Amino acid sequence: MTSGKKPAVLLEHYLKQLKLPTVLREYGKMAEICRTERADYQTFLLRLCEREVADREQRAAERRLKAAKFPVVKTLDTFDFKAQPSINQALMRELLRGEYIDKRENVLFVGNSGTGKTHLATALAFAACRRGNRVRFYTVTGLVTELLERREERQLKRFHRQLEKMHLVVLDELGYVPFSKAGAELLFEVVSRAYERTSLIVTTNLPFENWTEVLGNERLTGALLDRLTHRIHIIEANGESYRLKEAKRRLKRKTPPSLSAEK
Ligand code: ADP
Ligand code: MG
Repeated sequence: MTSGKKPAVLLEHYLKQLKLPTVLREYGKMAEICRTERADYQTFLLRLCEREVADREQRAAERRLKAAKFPVVKTLDTFDFKAQPSINQALMRELLRGEYIDKRENVLFVGNSGTGKTHLATALAFAACRRGNRVRFYTVTGLVTELLERREERQLKRFHRQLEKMHLVVLDELGYVPFSKAGAELLFEVVSRAYERTSLIVTTNLPFENWTEVLGNERLTGALLDRLTHRIHIIEANGESYRLKEAKRRLKRKTPPSLSAEK
């Protein structure tokens, strides 16, 4: 081995051991650049460290996004506020900054089907991921099914501990399917543990007075609402379904006027 090669082998060994993959990949190229630019040693080291940090942040962001398990990624860019004028756009934009997460506050989207609740909830959760928060998206029925399974496997405690590591949990679509007694109790436990610890975003088609219908128990519903709504931002969407409107528009374009089924 030539004398020039040995330090490189050792250096690469140390860089691997120190888990600095970007420095490992870039140090040769950067040394060249700094040599031609006559940059000093400190500048060389600084530039390498900057790249390592930037790459590390990028990798962490990708991991967070994957771990959040969004069904589809949606952002505010693709949301047409004019199509849903009932939505408080100013509040939505404020929430996008994510300070509610630092304050452990919750967000509730309430409105009919197709009014953009899931879209907006995902947009908030995606923004939270981007600002470095740990996020997990669930449909309420998906979460309850998982809770029942974990209980069956005697892994419920472990599951709660995992959930408690999150900064933000989305509970999408409360209200379409009523729960069993056990399901409602398990959901209550999640909301209860999240209180002042983890922010929740809930989307629902049900006004509060109807929550008992899906949760089945008046006392439990009261206790759940008490915790959930203690610090909450509510966004109401009471317009027409975006999906329905789009479908009608497509129909109108395709169907000759005489056949139009428009009422
Ligand atoms: P909800 O959860 O209230 O039932 P969704 O958020 O699932 O409604 O919206 C249904 C579909 O319509 C989604 O594909 C969503 O992206 C789209 N959508 C709803 N409202 C809007 C809007 N105002 N601008 C753009 N897309 C919208
Ligand atoms: Mg939805």
